[in-house]
Amino acid sequence: MSQPRMSRSLSHPALSVADPELAALVGAEEQLQADTLRLIPSENYVSAAVLEATGTVLQNKYSEGYAGRRYYEGQQNIDQVETLAVERAKAVFGVEHANVQPYSGSPANLAAYLAFAEPGDTVLGMALPMGGHLTHGWGVSATGTWFRGVQYGVRPDTALIDFDEVRDLARKERPKIIFCGGTAVPRTIDFAAFGEIAREVDAVLVADIAHIAGLIAGGAHPSPVPHADVISTTTHKTLRGPRGAMLMSRASHAKAVDKAVFPGLQGGPHNHTTAAIAVALREAAAPSFRDYAHAVVANAKALAEALLARGYDLVSGGTDNHLVLIDLTSKEVPGKVAAKALDRAGIVVNYNTVPFDPRKPFDPSGIRIGTPSLTSRGLGTDRMPLVAEWIDRSVQAAAKGDEGALTVIRGEVAELMAAYPAPGLPTA
Ligand SMILES: *Cc1c(COP(=O)(O)O)cnc(C)c1O
Repeated sequence: MSQPRMSRSLSHPALSVADPELAALVGAEEQLQADTLRLIPSENYVSAAVLEATGTVLQNKYSEGYAGRRYYEGQQNIDQVETLAVERAKAVFGVEHANVQPYSGSPANLAAYLAFAEPGDTVLGMALPMGGHLTHGWGVSATGTWFRGVQYGVRPDTALIDFDEVRDLARKERPKIIFCGGTAVPRTIDFAAFGEIAREVDAVLVADIAHIAGLIAGGAHPSPVPHADVISTTTHKTLRGPRGAMLMSRASHAKAVDKAVFPGLQGGPHNHTTAAIAVALREAAAPSFRDYAHAVVANAKALAEALLARGYDLVSGGTDNHLVLIDLTSKEVPGKVAAKALDRAGIVVNYNTVPFDPRKPFDPSGIRIGTPSLTSRGLGTDRMPLVAEWIDRSVQAAAKGDEGALTVIRGEVAELMAAYPAPGLPTA
């Protein structure tokens, strides 16, 4: 990669002096994030304000406990920071209780297990290769070894969640917890259907909205609030906050949730992260965030249309949200080969299994793309045909081993992206 320009190192003056080696890497990453088209659906660009909050002296403070009930003194400001984050979460999502301390999405989910199940209990979640998350009871995760994970999937004909299967498994297995939500689900999650099944079998329904929290906050995806007992979310995906997580619930579950996070699973909360979550939630409450959330979905739909027009197979035939899952089988290019070629073309995606994938998880048939990041940079639906064209040309170049074509695309991408400065990045 090119060396960071002077203006970039100037944006980290102390770091540049104290640790030039590390500062150079940060500068190179800033350049990479500026020059490339970032299509990983779980990633985003936080605002300069969110970024600043994560770099504050709040990180110097230990605060085990909750506001007004701490095990350390000196919480005059921290208590107010955490209360701000909690109150804003409650307002943005319309929930009775919010815990903003989980370190990330995986520990947040583990806290839900700790709150509502015993080791060895049965839990029902979506299988990882079908679009679920590791922490929904998949075998290689602690959640699939300490608990008895039973997994549902999607229908082979529609690639939509098979609610007959979910209901049958729930009745037969009587899970303590049912997880819904996922990491590669391009369609609207039917929280009402999950809620009905959970109530019938007396299970706790955890809606894991990590990917779609920003869409829900912005009114571009239905809310799980009327249907789920607990809502788990990361704060750093479509919600456009710092790396962190939240657990939200009805008031009746507040005690169990809080006790599971601390002292059940964690020690001191990351107060600088809490502060940045508060900032992100303030941004998410602004009218412009509704526009953002709807633009993310409009862009994903436009990108899906343009890819379909170029003969690409999309899992479920398209998208309702921010995410598109491309099955490359008919293009005869494995997902990993395509992902690596796209990366060389300045288009950053991840390879991904598709439902019923005949290939191995480390070498699957698909790539997963999404529009949260490009929408944060202000690209609109008018640009999506060009994005689809770049993807198509890159996949074709990968098939032919045409490195020159990838280099040409990389230049075109960098030129366009220069016209759409990313939030939070230093301007060159
Ligand atoms: C990203 C994600 C998580 C895990 O979040 P981490 O912060 O990476 O631990 C959990 N569940 C779902 C559905 C996710 O998409």
